[in-house]
Amino acid sequence: MKLFFYNTMKKDIQEFIPISEDEVRMYTCGPTVYNYAHIGNLRTYIFEDVLRRSLEYAGYTIKHVMNITDVGHLTDDNDEGEDKMLKSSRETGRTVWEIARFYTDAFFHDTDRLNIIRPTVSCKATEHIDTMIDLVKRLENRGYTYQTGGNVYFSIDEFPEYGKLAGQKLSDLKEGARIDIDAGKKNPKDFVLWFTESKFNNHIMEWDSPWGKGYPGWHVECSAMSMKYLGETFDIHCGGTDHIPVHHTNEIAQSEAATGKRWVNYWMHAEFLLDDTGKMSKSKGEFLTLDLLIKKGFAPLDYRFFCLGAHYRAQLHFSFEALESARKSRRNLMEKIAVIQREADNARSESQNNSANENQGNENLGLEDISVKARGYLDDFRSFLSRDLNMPRCLSVLWKLVKDSDVMPQEKLALIKDMDSVLGLKLMEAAPQEEEEVVLDKESLALIKEREEARKRKDYSRADQIRDILLKKGIEIKDTPSGTDWRKKL
Ligand code: AMP
Ligand code: ZN
Repeated sequence: MKLFFYNTMKKDIQEFIPISEDEVRMYTCGPTVYNYAHIGNLRTYIFEDVLRRSLEYAGYTIKHVMNITDVGHLTDDNDEGEDKMLKSSRETGRTVWEIARFYTDAFFHDTDRLNIIRPTVSCKATEHIDTMIDLVKRLENRGYTYQTGGNVYFSIDEFPEYGKLAGQKLSDLKEGARIDIDAGKKNPKDFVLWFTESKFNNHIMEWDSPWGKGYPGWHVECSAMSMKYLGETFDIHCGGTDHIPVHHTNEIAQSEAATGKRWVNYWMHAEFLLDDTGKMSKSKGEFLTLDLLIKKGFAPLDYRFFCLGAHYRAQLHFSFEALESARKSRRNLMEKIAVIQREADNARSESQNNSANENQGNENLGLEDISVKARGYLDDFRSFLSRDLNMPRCLSVLWKLVKDSDVMPQEKLALIKDMDSVLGLKLMEAAPQEEEEVVLDKESLALIKEREEARKRKDYSRADQIRDILLKKGIEIKDTPSGTDWRKKL
């Protein structure tokens, strides 16, 4: 199965061709662990999870690396402002190390609840300081750095391709840039590779380096750790769109300057989740977390379902009304799938009683055994998936499939299971029926079938007659768009 992705670097949709035939190497910028992730951050991680699942679905093995930014980084992308970890430490009375550990655990608790597959490698910045120092040394040896005000800077003028990801031109970047706090900077967009105590002498996390005791600049960690685990050129790098103009731009400059090679082949960015103030932010006091949604009665998968309802490259407006409608819709879907499971069980027990109908009763129907009609749904799903992960369209294919009474329940289940390996909505965990309700005797099943046929011919008096017969046998029936639902009266 071919996949086509929008590559931010090329500003176009391209066929995805990995460097190695069967393993995809992918890096995603991870959390800054000075606070809980907000649901905007989680939208990006859900997108990255769908991407990873899609690659696996297409047959690739994935090596997925994600950093944990536990070295504090500044409240401003441009090396200014307060250190976020220190700020959190001061506000909560906990040490920076305690804060980092606490919020790293909280982050994985959130992503687990959202059914996000954990990265193959999650690497902490604090455990890779030597790797970062090596990268800065390499840049220094190649003439890309200078020191001023106690810090080591990357000189963007030495890297003519600077700004290519965001379509910025080096010549434009000097003009109009505001005056930086560090007057020693050669270009206002130069960024710090290594801070020393001469600048922030109250920093608690510090390490020895050839330039003095200090700590790395934020952008260095992603370049250093990704190359350590994925090699100097790898397939995919992701993050939110906010990272395009500064963080990813700087990552590219320092990585490619150090190696002289292209660093990443495909850049994929998730658009923002917006709240009613326009932009979600952790610094605005109370912010939207997964726990808050849970407190308000939503399941984590309601939020995942809500996110899948929009394309990852479209902005998504969050409101509790919109989440409520996603919750209802997901519940409706799960109920329908529970009915299909019951129908499949019935078909199975029917075929055990009467082995004539092979496909209906086949317990583990494979995708190779499905009908042409069912195959059509699978093809549609795959084609929307392959065209830049169009989850809203994939979901609408799933809905159509679920409602199609011409597709057998066992086939539906095989397809739903297959599709869910990408959607990650735990669709096969739809409420199973009680054991004693699952099995209906052959005669009752035949009556249900006969009643369905009577209804099709509009012979409602026969249909009602059968309903009464079933009721006397203790079986209640309900007509649904996907067929007859039944339940044994207690
Ligand atoms: P951070 O922890 O701030 O470094 O952000 C973690 C990830 O969330 C990054 O990939 C950001 O680009 C992304 N992100 C930040 N804010 C939002 C938002 N409102 N909507 C979607 N993604 C976001
Ligand atoms: Zn990064």
